[in-house]
Formats: sequence, structure tokens, C-alpha cells
Amino acid sequence: MTAERYYDLLKSTADGIAPDVTEIEALLSPPDAECEQKLFDTALALKREIFGNLVNLRGLIEFSNICTCDCLYCGIRKSNTHIRRYRMSDDEIVYCAKLAADFGYGAVVLQSGERSDREFTDRVTRLLGKIAQLPAPPAVTLSCGEQSLEVFKEWVAAGAKRYLLRIESATEEIFRRIHPEVTTFANRKAALLRIREAGFQTGTGVMIGLPGQTLHHLARDIEFFREMDIDMIGMGPFLPQKDTPMGNAPDDKETVARRFSWALRMIAVTRLVLKDVNIASTTALQTIDPENGRERGLLAGANVIMPNVGDISYRKDYQLYNGKPSLDENGSQIREKLLASLRKIGEEPRWDVSGDPPHFTRRTKA
Ligand code: SAM
Repeated sequence: MTAERYYDLLKSTADGIAPDVTEIEALLSPPDAECEQKLFDTALALKREIFGNLVNLRGLIEFSNICTCDCLYCGIRKSNTHIRRYRMSDDEIVYCAKLAADFGYGAVVLQSGERSDREFTDRVTRLLGKIAQLPAPPAVTLSCGEQSLEVFKEWVAAGAKRYLLRIESATEEIFRRIHPEVTTFANRKAALLRIREAGFQTGTGVMIGLPGQTLHHLARDIEFFREMDIDMIGMGPFLPQKDTPMGNAPDDKETVARRFSWALRMIAVTRLVLKDVNIASTTALQTIDPENGRERGLLAGANVIMPNVGDISYRKDYQLYNGKPSLDENGSQIREKLLASLRKIGEEPRWDVSGDPPHFTRRTKA
């Protein structure tokens, strides 16, 4: 595609003409560096039109790494014997939620490995009740894997607002390659539909740069987000973890640079296609570029950051991939750094707000 044709497509998409999947793939394939920069600038302009120069913050609490799944890429998969399994106590979790609220974050994400036994699901319900009793309770996003409709509804009733469950790849063939047989694409998609039915603000996402994945597959991922009418997106580069079956995937400089640039393009094109959804600039970007990774995600159109507020002592046992940043920084050090880096790029935190995606408000009002 010529640069001229690329700019036309960019403009028509920004103006609200919905691209088809071939055009989405074209948007993900800028013909030169100038076009790529124009893609990021156009997505940032749209982000600022919708959200201003403001960023929603969610304090991330990785409250347990105990997992019943065996995803081939994931550092907390059940077969990985190289990590110490932990579960934070209720008091520790509630303390972190309060810390996030005191920091002015307005929202927390409670993330864990996947368990669906009653002991676990009851515990999450109980925790939600305790967080709701804080003097200024933060909004809660859960990210605890696939659950029944009954459990999702129970968690909504207990006060959770949002749920994140990544589809990982919307191409079934790729999904199958990176999961054991028991983890199926159909189940994952059905769980996302249940999340929506239960009344959650619904979030999903994919990993970018998986072996064999092309820009065509990524275009289909964006098409999937659109078809599923998703409210929030969290996606980032795939990063091999040495103690997993995918730990030997290519990780040379060129491959990593491609994953990073594709991840930024995914953020930008997703912003242009889905418009008023929340899009996170994820830790995986920061892992590749510790100084500017998350900032570059924001400059490509993301509007959410999830600074870790968990206890340092657990951090190293929640390494989904190698090189996770801020392993030895506590919540307030992370906050200070984040504020400085937001200032540097002309963005500001939105303090003390839940930060709901306008897309959710629009679709539930309709
Ligand atoms: N158990 C929950 C679930 O399945 O949704 C949440 C925890 S799970 C570890 C969170 C996300 O980490 C996954 O959805 C996956 O996309 C991401 N992740 C895991 N391993 C990764 C890797 N090696 N590189 C990049 N992202 C990874």
C-alpha cells in the first residue's frame, strides 16, 4: 500500500468509517516509519478527544499464583515447579486495596491464577465484601480466569465491576497451539459471554508476537473485540518464560523489537476501530522497554495503567514471563516514578475515580 493510500485509510477510520478485516490488517502494516508515527499520532489524538490528557490508574494486586491451568507460555502454570506458590491473606489484600485508594488510584485489579473450586470463589466473594467496607472503596476489576455464570453473578452482586479474561488469540488454531487440550477456545469465548451476561464491564485481550502469528491474525483479534462488543482491552507482547514449554521461542533483538512495535500498532489500531473503550498500556511493554515502554503505549492511544500495589515479597513468584520490571520497588516508589513519567509525556492521572469505559455506559444505556 502506498503512503498516500495509507493516510486515506487512517483518516476514514478516524472519521468513523468502520474498516473491514482486510483494512484493519492494512492499518496494522504501515508502509514506512512516517506512516507508523502518523498511526500513533492519530490514535493519540482520538484518545485525547475522548478522554483528554488523562490516564486511569488501577492498583494491581496479584493475590495468588496458585493455578489449575497449564498454559504453555505462562510462568505460573501448574506444572512449573520453580516458583513458590502463595496466596496473600485477606488482611494483606484489603491493606493493598486501601493503599491503592489512599494513593488516589480509584480502582484495583485483583488478579490470580485460575481456580474455580468453591473455597476459592467464596473467598473472592468475601474479599469483595471486605473491600466494599473500606471508607473510600476502590472500584474492583477481577481477573481470576473462567467461572460459571452463577459465580460471575455472585461476584457482581458482591461489588466487582469489571472482569478481564484474555482470549489470548482469536484464531483458534493459534489458541490450540499455546494451550493444553483441556483449555479450549470455545470455553474461553463462552466464559467471556457469561462475564458480559453477569453485568460486568467486559475486558479481554491477546498476546502479540506469538510464534506463527501474523498481522493477519492480529487483525482478526481486533475484529473479535469488535464483534464481542468489548469494553476494555489489555494486551501486550508475548515474552518467553524460561521454565515453560514456550520458553525457547525466538527472543533475539529483532524478534523482540517486532513484538514491541506490533504491540504499539495493536493499541493504536484498536483505539481507532473501537474508539471509546479502555485500553491498558501493560507491564509487558515496560518489560521490553523499562524506561519508556508504558509511556509509548499511552502515546499510541492507551488510557489505562495498572501500577503494582502488591507486597514486594510476592512479586518474584508472579513472574508470568522473565524480566518483569519493578521487582524490588514498593507501591509508593512505583507511584512516584509513574507520576514523573506521565508528566514527561504530557499526561496526568485521573485521581480518585473509578474510570469506567464510556463504551460500557453507552451500551448499557441503549
Ligand atoms: N488466571 C487469569 C486468566 O487466565 O485470565 C489471570 C492471570 S493470567 C497469568 C494473566 C495474563 O498473563 C494472561 O491472560 C496472559 O495473556 C498473560 N501472560 C501469561 N504468560 C505470558 C507471557 N509469557 N508473555 C506475555 N503475557 C503472558
